Amino acid sequence: MAFKRMEGFAGSIPQQFADTQIPKCPMCGTTEPYWTLDQRMGKMFSLDPEENAHKYLFKCDKCQCVLRVPTTDVVGVGRSALLSWQGVAKKLRGKDTSAVYVTIEEVGNMQTTEIHKGKEMTLHELTAMAYQL
Ligand SMILES: [Zn+2]
Repeated sequence: MAFKRMEGFAGSIPQQFADTQIPKCPMCGTTEPYWTLDQRMGKMFSLDPEENAHKYLFKCDKCQCVLRVPTTDVVGVGRSALLSWQGVAKKLRGKDTSAVYVTIEEVGNMQTTEIHKGKEMTLHELTAMAYQL
């Protein structure tokens, strides 16, 4: 699947998540990231909850950076430790189950941000980083 805007009902949840929760790109600082979406299916038979999880990928239109968020975080299921395996897994790893975790999959074409590649942080930390730009 290629990156694209997901308008309409099926794509509205992740698209709204990106547009409202990440209004400023943490890599290039644009306030018009115009996020496009892609999905990555988890490895169904993997026992590693990180690998097993389906992910949403968000790509910035300006710098081409790619952010990765577990779909359970996007829809909120992962935030309740009691409701999902993903939530339990987060807790076991010492993560805040109420936080949304974002991984910087690609840093895009802003060379100075290369150090952030592969980093995982909470949405709160990501937003703070975006507003330092
Ligand atoms: Zn950007």
